[in-house]
Amino acid sequence: MLAMSSKEINVKILEKKDNFLKLIISGISPAIANAIRRTIIAEVPTLAIDEVVVLENSSILPDEIIAHRLGLIPLTIDLETYGLVDEDSDIYKKTQIRLTLDVEAKEGPITIYSGDLKSEDPHVVPVYKNIPIIKLEKGQRITLEAYARFGKGKDHAKWQPVSVCAYKYMPIIKIFQEKCTLCGVCVNECPKKVLEIKDNKLVVRNLLECTTCRACEKVCPNDAIRISWDDTTFIFKIESIGSLPPEVIFCKAIDILIKKAEKFKEEIKKISEG
Ligand code: SF4
Ligand code: SF4
Repeated sequence: MLAMSSKEINVKILEKKDNFLKLIISGISPAIANAIRRTIIAEVPTLAIDEVVVLENSSILPDEIIAHRLGLIPLTIDLETYGLVDEDSDIYKKTQIRLTLDVEAKEGPITIYSGDLKSEDPHVVPVYKNIPIIKLEKGQRITLEAYARFGKGKDHAKWQPVSVCAYKYMPIIKIFQEKCTLCGVCVNECPKKVLEIKDNKLVVRNLLECTTCRACEKVCPNDAIRISWDDTTFIFKIESIGSLPPEVIFCKAIDILIKKAEKFKEEIKKISEG
């Protein structure tokens, strides 16, 4: 069912760091929550190395393996330009950034890192400079040109903007105080330490940590605790690979979903008008 819940949609940020965002979205259906997750993973464009021309490689690694490793290095994106990127734009289709690597191990064995790549565009560089690419023995050399292009996670995982995008239902914990003997078994059984006995009462200390595993429910001898969840409220965790801030990824995914829904509506209208 793609139907939206009748509740008002609300988004609340719980935690925000450079590459991490935790938020609660309420008033949506499980199908919409999953559509957001899938759009973030598969539809939000990023830049990744897509073509490598190896001019010299006297290392022990074949060209293909080096190219594969280069493709997986996260690249920064110019946010001003990124605002204009969508699937049909020239920026998406035509952008091509050249990065080069030319290193020789003259004195002894060396490790080549992502930071050794030289980019023609200062806005498009490896997010992390310390990703090892290859080791060279004395006298070995690698010279190559790599071309970064826009793409989407649905075409190849190297274009995924996130390492994690997951959600869970908002848990609901109901305690029947009249049945509870304060034996503490559920408190010890809970893997997330969600429950505690305080002032002679079993209470929930951190609801959002609850995984709805129901271990507490199973061990309670008096049927005094019930676990369920709200299937219109979701706790999302989004971890960016560093190319884009997680809030930009989230907003872009919502834009893409809205555009898809509008296109769908237009198509339906065309059909109904004959
Ligand atoms: S296991 Fe049951 S009776 Fe014991 S503290 Fe938990 S809810 Fe109360
Ligand atoms: S459902 Fe699992 S995580 Fe939640 S309170 Fe019970 S034991 Fe803890």
